[in-house]
Amino acid sequence: MALANEHFMKLPDNYLFTDIAKKVNTFKVVHPKAEIIRLGIGDVTRPLPKASLEAMHKAVDEMGEASTFRGYGPEHGYDFLINAIIKNDYEPRGVKLDPDEVFISDGSKSDTGNIGDILRHDNSIGVTDPIYPVYIDSNVMCGRAGVLEDGKWSNVTYLPTNMENNFVPQIPNHRVDIIYLCYPNNPTGTVLSAEELKKWVNYAIKNDAIIMYDAAYEAYIQNPDIPHSIYEIRGAKKVAIEFRSFSKTAGFTGVRCGYTVVPKELTASTLSGERIPLNRLWNRRQCTKFNGTSYITQRGAEAIYTPEGKSQVRETINYYMTNAKIMKEGLTSLGYQVFGGENAPYLWVKTPNGTTSWKFFEQMLYEANVVGTPGVGFGPSGEGYIRLTAFGERENCEEAMRRFRKL
Ligand code: PLP
Repeated sequence: MALANEHFMKLPDNYLFTDIAKKVNTFKVVHPKAEIIRLGIGDVTRPLPKASLEAMHKAVDEMGEASTFRGYGPEHGYDFLINAIIKNDYEPRGVKLDPDEVFISDGSKSDTGNIGDILRHDNSIGVTDPIYPVYIDSNVMCGRAGVLEDGKWSNVTYLPTNMENNFVPQIPNHRVDIIYLCYPNNPTGTVLSAEELKKWVNYAIKNDAIIMYDAAYEAYIQNPDIPHSIYEIRGAKKVAIEFRSFSKTAGFTGVRCGYTVVPKELTASTLSGERIPLNRLWNRRQCTKFNGTSYITQRGAEAIYTPEGKSQVRETINYYMTNAKIMKEGLTSLGYQVFGGENAPYLWVKTPNGTTSWKFFEQMLYEANVVGTPGVGFGPSGEGYIRLTAFGERENCEEAMRRFRKL
């Protein structure tokens, strides 16, 4: 008899965006003429940088010639992309990496979800709350998260971030084996200073813990003092894995490309106390379960590091960040308390008068025909907030602000 992985049964059925879609569809049935503005889902809307497009066209042509055709590529990615990443994303920040510490993938969702494969199922985990749901759900699937009790997983330490603590998670007063940090943060759009990040690195060193650092939104950082990589903090290579994505940086949500850095210095212990380099395990895992990102995609990603690619990426990010500014100023002038939106494409808006996230979601939908994402969908501490994204069209952001005045 084949037995199912029953940990999957513990996962709540409903996925946040499915719930939102259902509510929006119900609204549309009753109000078929309403023009809905979607500021909810975190997908980009601007097209790919021209440099990537051209590089991918060229790569497609190469695939059509026997002399330049490529079959299976290296599981961990082509050197041309790995070298471009090291040279452009890390060296200018004083971080030295070897090519075999960078693993190209089809995006950060897979990597942040799969990374748990190389760690024992009984490690404890810590997450900031609210949080990108993949971190917890992937740990639930392998049993690491424990059981759900009153909306919280028993083996998970929740580190609340809210306006009271200025969205800075407090270091736990007990040992946690694996800590997920995401900065710039989805959903709150807030960032962590080098000083705060250093506290986490020191905590991890002291407690022999590992930090999973998700930097999917680092390209949105505007403040030059905010670290882009955890490896800018001394000692971090011993304790941190970093995830990066081309999705939001270069509009690759549909193309699919990201990468993960697993430094060779980073080790974890066996029960008998032997130290194992996690780089070796992740390499083994990827070589077994992943067959590489397509050559065409990697050429497209490489192109964002050319001078034209860089300026095109910058232009798109400026477009989104101008949206964020318009929305933040608009909402603030209406008296809303708005967080994030300065170094990230997300705005985290406090709902007025203690309204719940879902109630305010419905109010926005029915009174302004604007869709946001209820903060509570990202974790208990998200209750009382709504997430808005700056990934929309400019006119829609402006129109959304006009409609907010009606609320
Ligand atoms: N990490 C965070 C915090 C995200 O918000 C997202 C996407 O929304 C991802 C990772 C996934 O990115 P990718 O498209 O590379 O899978």
